Parts: sequence; C-alpha cells; structure tokens
Amino acid sequence: MDDMTRPRERDRTITVVSLVLTLVAVGAYVTFGNSPLSTQVRSLLGVEDRVMPPVEAGATGAHAFLNTQPGSNRPVGFSPCRVIPYVVNPEQAPDDWQRYVEEAVGEVSQRTGLRFDDRGTTEDRDFDDRGTGGGDPEPVLIGWADEDEVGELADDVAGLGGPTMAQLGNHRAYVTGSVILDSDTTDRLERARDGDELQVALLLHELGHLVGLDHVDDTGELMYPNGVTRAGYGPGDVEGLAALGAIPCR
Ligand SMILES: [Zn+2]
Repeated sequence: MDDMTRPRERDRTITVVSLVLTLVAVGAYVTFGNSPLSTQVRSLLGVEDRVMPPVEAGATGAHAFLNTQPGSNRPVGFSPCRVIPYVVNPEQAPDDWQRYVEEAVGEVSQRTGLRFDDRGTTEDRDFDDRGTGGGDPEPVLIGWADEDEVGELADDVAGLGGPTMAQLGNHRAYVTGSVILDSDTTDRLERARDGDELQVALLLHELGHLVGLDHVDDTGELMYPNGVTRAGYGPGDVEGLAALGAIPCR
C-alpha cells in the first residue's frame, strides 16, 4: 500500500456541521386488500422479471430500513420489476439542479439495481400526497421549498424524503414518494466551497430515504442524520441500498 494513496474524490470527507438532515414520515400508507384495484396494484408492485440485475454490495456497515414486511425483518422497498418514474419541480432549485439530480439518481440506481425513469419537469408541488387517489400513484416528486411552504423544513432541516407504502394482502411495497430540499440551504450551498458535492450529497441522503433507508448513528455513513459527514454513500449505506434493490418483486 502506498501511504500517499488518497481516497477517491467521491469518498472525500467533507465537514459541514451546520446542515441537519431529517426524515419526513412516510407520506402515505394505502391499503388495497381485496379492493377491485388489486389487479392494477398487483401490476404496480411488479410481478414480472427484474428490470435490472441485482447489485453486489461489496461492502458492509451500519444501515437500517424504514419498514419491514409484516412479521419479518425483510425490508420493504420498491419492486425491482418496475421502473420508478420521477418528475422534478425546478422552482427554487439551484442553477445546476439538472446535473445534481442526474448524478444522484444515477448513483442510487447503480447502488440498488432499481431503474428510474425521468418524466421531466412539473409544476406539481403536492409533496405530501403522491398516493393513488383510486388510480395510478403520481410519479416520485423531487423539488425545493422553504419552511413557509413546508413547515418541517424549519430550523436547520436541509431536506426531507420518504416513500409512500402500499399494502396488498400481506405484502408491502413502496409505490411512489417525494424528496424536498430546503431552498434556503441550497441557495447557501451555491456560494459554498464543496457546494456542488453537498448539493448531490443532500439528494443522495434523501433519495436513500425514498428507497427505504433509515438513519444510522454512524458518522461514517451518509444516512447519519446530524450533518453531512461525507460526499458519497458509506459502506453501510451501500450494503443497505443493495439489499433494498434485491428484494423479491412480489
Ligand atoms: Zn434523513
């Protein structure tokens, strides 16, 4: 080993103690049970083949899941047999939002083996209700807002993210969700050193929640809740993301 070896750029530790990330509670919880929607929902949950192959994590470390299947410790996640459509509302977004979103979503896809489908931009700002309302769920919504609009962004909270869970019989799956970045924070980051990396790190953290990761009390992981301690996912984050993408489709 060469003592001069430096970590790769992505893994470089960055210290920004003023940023606090918190998790929004799962936005909605819809139960379909024996409703006439069951057939439709069954296809939403995915019963065909995987879209992408599963991922070998190649790393181990602290990670936690937001939800588990009833009576088991198997994590709830998006079905790997369907693509995850998402839209972006660029209002209040940093100038380079497109690059940040592309990089972060691409990273999550690569780490999970889940495929995301970019459905373009939207004016939709209904972050709370992505549920079905009797039809298909709305796409995942990524956007920026301030605390006047989204109260949970008050104080030092830099972002919120979480999935919407559906239950069919005894099986749970995420079917949509949202990610909201605090626009006051991302405005400040536009002028900060390491700002670009932090914009992406915030998205990676919240997208981690979206696909099912919970916080861990380990500063070596990006899912650590009290400050951004690294630019990219840590080993436990990587292990958790691979597990979330490796669940059975149904
Ligand atoms: Zn969080």
